[in-house]
Amino acid sequence: MYVRKDSEGKGQHAYRPSWNHCVTHNRWICYGMLGAHTSIAGGLHRAISRSRVFNGTALQIFSKNNNRWSAPDFTREQLAEWHAAAKDFPLAAIAIHDSYLINLCSPNDETFARSLDAFVDEHRRAEQLGIRLLNFHPGAACGRPAGQALDLVARQINRAHSATRASNTMSVIETTAGQGSTLGWRFEEIAAIIRQIDDASRIGVCLDTCHVFAAGYDISTETGYTETMQQFEEVIGLRHLVLFHLNDSKATLGSRVDRHEHIGRGRIGETAFRMVMADRRFASVPKVIETPKGPDLREDIENITLLRSFIPKDMQTAGA
Ligand SMILES: [Zn+2]
Ligand SMILES: [Zn+2]
Repeated sequence: MYVRKDSEGKGQHAYRPSWNHCVTHNRWICYGMLGAHTSIAGGLHRAISRSRVFNGTALQIFSKNNNRWSAPDFTREQLAEWHAAAKDFPLAAIAIHDSYLINLCSPNDETFARSLDAFVDEHRRAEQLGIRLLNFHPGAACGRPAGQALDLVARQINRAHSATRASNTMSVIETTAGQGSTLGWRFEEIAAIIRQIDDASRIGVCLDTCHVFAAGYDISTETGYTETMQQFEEVIGLRHLVLFHLNDSKATLGSRVDRHEHIGRGRIGETAFRMVMADRRFASVPKVIETPKGPDLREDIENITLLRSFIPKDMQTAGA
């Protein structure tokens, strides 16, 4: 249930997001929640100011150098700067993308142990920043049978949730392209993990358009998009879908190769993105792009502007 509020989120934006208070969940929902994975160079809070350039209403960041196992704890100053920036420029949703090194089902004992520690640390960092979504790749089986690897991933997620019991940050499993022995490219694999998670309120799914296409789900046509979402609903359940990564794909359908391309300029093409942006079921699901960009963010501005143009007029202002 949503109640429209007019005074929030308007004024300073060229694009005026529509803010609605969801009474059921007691949170503010912004239609067309859209943003980009944005650099934290120069400080975490800089990501928030950077996303002003394209009037982002959603944001994804790394909480630290994504190629390192660990990072020093946030200082009080860093946290103060972050919270001040977040207050100054309220975003409807923020996600952290975890470190690329983490493999929750690694057959290497040391990597296995380090991965859980690092994953728990990402949860703690998210909690400190007030970030509700922690996006991660389920892992790579590296020779283990897929079923066994998926069981291990679920067990590690449960452990991380137990270690951060007071937190309400969700572990958000990203659909993958299925490169190498990467898990999570079939919806069935994601469902197999979710079934084993003890605290259902802390698990969600991120659908990456580039990845699902490379994995073989043909979202490039209206029919293909509709069928893919239907499969998602039947196998995983759309209620679990809490985040989108909107990326076009350089690689072909079913190639299982993960190469992001600008929106509408890859093998997927514009249709899928028009469908997502006009899909009322996903109006309050945050969407971030992870497309190539230079330091002036010109490409982000272009991609976001294009995606915004796909939001039907009535969805930009109307409450559900
Ligand atoms: Zn992604
Ligand atoms: Zn990718």
